[in-house]
Amino acid sequence: MTEINEFPQTLTIAGTDSGGGAGIMADIKTMQERHTFAAAVVVAVTAQNTLGVQDFTALPAQLINEQFASIAADLKIRACKTGMLADAKHVKLVAANLKKYDFGPLTVDPVMIAKGGAPLLAADAIESVKTKLLPLATLVTPNLPEAQRLTGLTITTAADMEKAARELQKLGAKNVLIKGGHAEQNEVRDYTLLESGESFWVSAPRVATKRTHGTGDTLSSCITAELAKGQSMTAAIRLAKKFVAAAITDGIQVGHGHGPLNHWA
Ligand code: PLP
Repeated sequence: MTEINEFPQTLTIAGTDSGGGAGIMADIKTMQERHTFAAAVVVAVTAQNTLGVQDFTALPAQLINEQFASIAADLKIRACKTGMLADAKHVKLVAANLKKYDFGPLTVDPVMIAKGGAPLLAADAIESVKTKLLPLATLVTPNLPEAQRLTGLTITTAADMEKAARELQKLGAKNVLIKGGHAEQNEVRDYTLLESGESFWVSAPRVATKRTHGTGDTLSSCITAELAKGQSMTAAIRLAKKFVAAAITDGIQVGHGHGPLNHWA
């Protein structure tokens, strides 16, 4: 019989979504669906639904530190991810905890702005993401606007994406996945630059739907789960792209705005 502590355990360090579609809720659903046990450090709490983010607050530093300590004292986390981190203070706090504890490969989803336009990261926190978090990242998964903010580059072509990925590696992220979902093409093309210097593109047809709330969270959580189960970075990224494509295509009707993905598609 497998030791209880040996079941693949994953950790999300992020914000909640009361509407259930994004953030920690999407992370846990995805990690569970990919057959891992999901733990969570809640950094921020949002009042949110498919129509938008109505309010949010970040939790006190001490409570966040205690969540990290509780998890480290008991669970055996094999891979972790960060999502919404709210502001510079919390980015630094999370980075300090990730230095202190070994939670396996870290995927940084540099969440900045929700689809409805609400800022989930203060503008002055971007520097802390670059200097404190990216050097700890096994993988960083920005969308195009996030990659632009982190690198200062204007990204319009495939060559721009490749250049931005190299810049993100220079900032310390070992592997880089730049998501092309915000481009206008019919194919959504994502670019991966691996630690080894190898690179590849993955693509999926664009689906005409408003039900894409939590797409980035789902992708990074799926990658985290696959890494926890021992998959290679390449296999984890390829599988996650397929998982997200199916979760968007096979949409479910929830709410009146940008609806959630179907996490068990
Ligand atoms: N809310 C939280 C807590 C999130 O972490 C995220 C994305 O990472 C969002 C909302 C945004 O979701 P979307 O932009 O997919 O609607």
